[in-house]
Amino acid sequence: MQMLFSHHLEPTQKATQIGQTRNGCSSDLGIGESLMKHSPMHSTSAYDVLKKFFDPIKGTDAFQITVMLSRPRARGEMLLRSSDYKDNPIFDARYFEDPEGSDIKVMVEGCKRAVYMSENSPAFRRLGARLSPVPFPPCKHLEFRSDSYWECFVRHYSVSIYHYSERRAMGPKGSPKAVVDSELRVQGTKRLRVIDAGIMPYVVTVNTNGPTIMIGERGVQFVLDTWKTYVSHGAHKPYP
Ligand SMILES: Cc1cc2nc3c(=O)[nH]c(=O)nc-3n(C[C@H](O)[C@H](O)[C@H](O)COP(=O)(O)OP(=O)(O)OC[C@H]3O[C@@H](n4cnc5c(N)ncnc54)[C@H](O)[C@@H]3O)c2cc1C
Repeated sequence: MQMLFSHHLEPTQKATQIGQTRNGCSSDLGIGESLMKHSPMHSTSAYDVLKKFFDPIKGTDAFQITVMLSRPRARGEMLLRSSDYKDNPIFDARYFEDPEGSDIKVMVEGCKRAVYMSENSPAFRRLGARLSPVPFPPCKHLEFRSDSYWECFVRHYSVSIYHYSERRAMGPKGSPKAVVDSELRVQGTKRLRVIDAGIMPYVVTVNTNGPTIMIGERGVQFVLDTWKTYVSHGAHKPYP
């Protein structure tokens, strides 16, 4: 069994998600090569590290577990690179930089839990699943499976999982974080609505596509209701 760790950005509560991917190894592309191909570590030295890590288990039956930090306390920021709108902005995720250090602790616990379940649950026991004995090269000086080993692994091998939210949060008038009201109107305007994932005041602890579709359905209903009221009151009157 191999593990790949990743997390996405959101504050407030400790929560992890555990996802699983099976890796078919009967083809020429074993787990090592397939993971290296999709790895967050792109440089040549990173490639070498992953090669050392995955080569010993290449060609074996294996699966990976993704431990996700659903609600990190660390907050990233997006900055303008320059006054030229064509320049890409700077994204600084600031992973694991929360002052209390709680994000890294949650991830370490998540890894330990994932390994425990994989080696001890009746279903996985039947398969004889076990953690690959190959330590992650940059962390091999640390006691394998210890908290410090997992911390080193997580710090070296985390990626973002694309569930950004909260950019234009819904909330009560006057709240410093709120951009839209409970009918998704931009505060201080009447006709401008934001209907997308960005209005979630706190990102959900599951994947965001389903909840975003729900926000879309609700938002469309707000628009329809507004126009129905407008038309029934006589379309000659000013917009409400
Ligand atoms: C790589 C990746 C993988 C993901 N995988 C999953 C998954 O497996 N499951 C899951 O639940 N969620 C997944 N998500 C998250 C999910 O896709 C998003 O949460 C969701 O699509 C957000 O919807 P949205 O409407 O807020 O934004 P978007 O879907 O990004 O829609 C924004 C739209 O606005 C358009 N747009 C932007 N600028 C302009 C402009 N100036 N004028 C006109 N149109 C414009 C864009 O083209 C786009 O169509 C994934 C996200 C990414 C990036």
